[in-house]
Amino acid sequence: METGAQTIFKEREGQIHRKGEEPFEMTCNRDSLAGAVSQRACVFCGSRVVLYPIADALHLVHGPIGCAAYTWDIRGALSSGPELHRLSFSTDLQEKDVIFGAETKLYSALTELIDRHKPNAAFVYSTCIVGIIGDDLEAVCKRVSEEKGIPVIPVQSEGFKGSKREGYNAACRAMFRLVGMRETTGISPVSINILGDFNLAGEIWIIRDYFKKMGVEVVANITGDGRVADIQRAHGAGLNVVQCSGATVDLAKMMQEAYGIPYIQVSYFGVEDMAEALYSVAKHFEDKDPDILRKAQEVVREELSVLYPKLQEFRKDLEGKKAAIYVGGAFKAFSLVKAFRLIGMKVVLVGSQTGTEEDYRELYEITDEGTIIVDDSNPLELSSFLQEQDVDIFVGGVKERPIAYKLGVGFCDHNHERKEPLEGFVGMLNFAQEVYNTVMSPVWRFAPRKVKRAREV
Ligand code: SF4
Repeated sequence: METGAQTIFKEREGQIHRKGEEPFEMTCNRDSLAGAVSQRACVFCGSRVVLYPIADALHLVHGPIGCAAYTWDIRGALSSGPELHRLSFSTDLQEKDVIFGAETKLYSALTELIDRHKPNAAFVYSTCIVGIIGDDLEAVCKRVSEEKGIPVIPVQSEGFKGSKREGYNAACRAMFRLVGMRETTGISPVSINILGDFNLAGEIWIIRDYFKKMGVEVVANITGDGRVADIQRAHGAGLNVVQCSGATVDLAKMMQEAYGIPYIQVSYFGVEDMAEALYSVAKHFEDKDPDILRKAQEVVREELSVLYPKLQEFRKDLEGKKAAIYVGGAFKAFSLVKAFRLIGMKVVLVGSQTGTEEDYRELYEITDEGTIIVDDSNPLELSSFLQEQDVDIFVGGVKERPIAYKLGVGFCDHNHERKEPLEGFVGMLNFAQEVYNTVMSPVWRFAPRKVKRAREV
């Protein structure tokens, strides 16, 4: 029988909190413990997921082929036009390049790819080995940019430099170099940039539609269904609306400092947070459009009149069932806790890869007694908690899926690979439907759940 000491490393005890057993205190924002097999990705991967959905840009990974393969087509980010982002280009560094340097190889690859694909900009990602051999990405990119007449931007994302969070920052610094390059004439004073939505399964189109009904112009999608020219004039928007805790908030801060554009943080998941996002934008522009709050209320009322009766149906069967959540950024976890409550379910485990102390304090405030809150967890811990809490469904991403299935637990993909839109009011309905189908599936009769008694783990 496993004991607590075997499941949870002593050094990680401060990153796990059981609500109700002790006063709230959590350690977080630290390097992953060696040997604990964190669920986190590397810095390069963090930058890649943020920039990837810019569909008319060339994305060239300067490194061994594995880095490119690992992040190829990494998000299900849809484009309404070009799909250059879906191709994976790599300089495929070999031993000789590592010994003698690979700037010439990078130059050749970049010029050939730009001639062939005619992108509107190019991003060149630095990987671990490039950080070690010291290729001057900045100089190569500058030369190619001058020769080809498009922005060619280095992304300083050497994988070993920190956690995925540093990758987000590298991506924001790269994008910031595009902002301000184009004219902003003709942009409405009631205008926004949408930051931190990656258009998974077409979600940004749903959100844009709500804003359109409110009379709000969207200048740039950053980055779902993104276009280089839109980002270049994004400094003309009146407000940056940022979703997700970490991915693009650094860009919003840079734009605030350089161009005076304020930003708000929102979430489009779940009924409460989606409505709140629309109201927050409406309140910001009330002095410019006195009718905007009424228009936002109209959108919410219309959507809820369809949604609520259907949610009540699901609730009848789901009442009292248990859910576990483990996601990249904690912001999504807040919305998921509320969304599960709306369909009668109880969240018994919630955690994230990159949450801050402030994030975990908020999770502590909104969760029920007995909930386990965890930072930067690993498969062994997650498996133990799932069994101990006897959960009905686990919400996570591609790395969490096998953990759930091996234990005979239902799984809901709420990450890059999802194929159903889960944002917006319609997304809440899709989410409830998916949870219902999974939890109530007859398949669990043939794949019984593995359970442990509390504190056997
Ligand atoms: S850790 Fe380094 S080598 Fe591995 S994928 Fe990331 S950048 Fe590439």
